[in-house]
Amino acid sequence: MPSPRARRGTRGGRLSRRVSLAGSALLVTLAVTVSPASAHYYSGGGASASFTIKPYDYNDTWMKPLNKALSNWNGTATPAYVSKSSSSSSWVQAASFSSSWYGLYTPYGSRTGRYFRIQLNSRTIYNDASNWSNFVTSSFVHELGHRLSLDDITSGYCTTSIMSYCRNRNSMTTPQAHDVNSYY
Ligand SMILES: [Zn+2]
Repeated sequence: MPSPRARRGTRGGRLSRRVSLAGSALLVTLAVTVSPASAHYYSGGGASASFTIKPYDYNDTWMKPLNKALSNWNGTATPAYVSKSSSSSSWVQAASFSSSWYGLYTPYGSRTGRYFRIQLNSRTIYNDASNWSNFVTSSFVHELGHRLSLDDITSGYCTTSIMSYCRNRNSMTTPQAHDVNSYY
């Protein structure tokens, strides 16, 4: 069993995880980080690695990279499997947000009944992407990683992980060995 850890990244009382711009948000995160006994475990994930998300409908510039993110997790050597279902309580919202994050994961319910909202920020992604499609896929793969109980890697070292803030979202679009091996 992973040990309990402090909640961080809380917004308005809700536990959130974000792909952050490496800067001010990083400092906020580091300020309240505790050392987990089990590295990179995130308690906002769900008990089952097989889960659903509501079908989403955006234009092609979004749909292809969003769908690729699902495929990229489903193609890993883990039990992770995300499928679209109209009865799902989980959803993804792509829109322009004034916040500095690229993506934000918000869990709801208990771990066994987990559902979530993932928000993707067209404003910050547009500003920082040299490869739009890869950037969207990378951000969505990262946020789905939180559903799979993977925590952000924000401090100390720059490991090869989709969960690392220091990795380039223009080029890293798939879960890495670290992420597959850290699956809970
Ligand atoms: Zn994150």
